[in-house]
Amino acid sequence: MNAPPARFAFERPASLAELVARLARLSADGGDYALAAGATDLMPQIKRGVKTPARLISLNGVPELAGVQARADGSHRLGALTRLADLAGDARLRQHYPALCAAAGRVASPPIRQRASLGGNLLVDNRCIHINQSALNRAVHGTCFKAGGETCPLVKSAVRGRLPQCQARFVSDTAPVLLLLDAVLQLVSPRGERQLPLSQFYRDDGMQRHVLASDEVLVAIELPAADGLRIDYDKLTIRRALDFPSLGVALGVRADSGGTLGELSLALTGIGTHPGCWRFAAAAYDNANAMLDAACAAARESATTYQQDFFPRDYRKRMIDVFIRKAAQRLGVAR
Ligand SMILES: Cc1cc2nc3c(=O)[nH]c(=O)nc-3n(C[C@H](O)[C@H](O)[C@H](O)COP(=O)(O)OP(=O)(O)OC[C@H]3O[C@@H](n4cnc5c(N)ncnc54)[C@H](O)[C@@H]3O)c2cc1C
Repeated sequence: MNAPPARFAFERPASLAELVARLARLSADGGDYALAAGATDLMPQIKRGVKTPARLISLNGVPELAGVQARADGSHRLGALTRLADLAGDARLRQHYPALCAAAGRVASPPIRQRASLGGNLLVDNRCIHINQSALNRAVHGTCFKAGGETCPLVKSAVRGRLPQCQARFVSDTAPVLLLLDAVLQLVSPRGERQLPLSQFYRDDGMQRHVLASDEVLVAIELPAADGLRIDYDKLTIRRALDFPSLGVALGVRADSGGTLGELSLALTGIGTHPGCWRFAAAAYDNANAMLDAACAAARESATTYQQDFFPRDYRKRMIDVFIRKAAQRLGVAR
């Protein structure tokens, strides 16, 4: 049962300049606010009392955050407010980045994808069976760092303030594909603008999850031309719809100039506090099967699973190999 949501003020700036000016003013006053795009992740947390912002600032009136631009060189700019349903159904984008469109189409359910944004998906909160419960349930089963407590029910040795303090799982479906595509984030704050590769964005902690400042806005995602990179994305879930990834695997292959496999790349979601990402150059391996073995070993060794999901932790870990090898088969490489 959810508690009635706390009251909050609501604002809807009409331009990026207005938004940034407002953020500067609010941060100087120590403001307690949250930015909302589709609010499909934020609102359930407010309803469960996990987040209690005094003010909600909607991004939906900011035109600079919307729209998709295609450039002649094959690169694209995706506004952070691009809705996942639009992304999944965009025929032009499907030609350039089919796996990104497919991953967007695997998020939640059709009604949620109509509102959910790509920016919000990259920033979706990490999840754990302790924090993602009603306030009543949390009160009965004990607290955790993220709910303001001083212990973690999963990792007894974890200490508040010492990273990684929280083992809540990273769950974005689009992040692994965007990592393989070498996406770059355009970020704007009262201090100005910066471009940050997605590969440098996430941190190894379920609470301090990324390097975005509280007064910083994700404006757009820049994608270079896919340039022959083929990606397969699949996720482990109980149901076909509505479920966050218990494990998500993106596997990428790029041919060299001779047409044989030149690079294998791999990114994971649903396991660990941040998305793992690895690249394997063909020159370092005897053949494609050896590259695939190396990818499975790297992912397996890095993955620490806890009993924090519907699936048993060992099963999720075993499925990493299975998902990587099935993706390789679909991409037509290795055994
Ligand atoms: C039933 C259900 C099932 C779901 N299943 C999945 C799933 O399978 N896979 C998955 O990945 N997600 C899932 N989600 C989570 C969520 O719907 C998606 O991740 C969605 O893409 C979030 O986008 P949003 O625009 O609604 O984000 P919001 O809820 O608006 O925002 C999420 C976070 O990002 C911040 N934020 C958003 N946009 C910006 C911006 N431009 N700049 C700075 N900060 C920003 C917000 O402040 C907030 O902290 C599910 C949610 C529900 C309710």
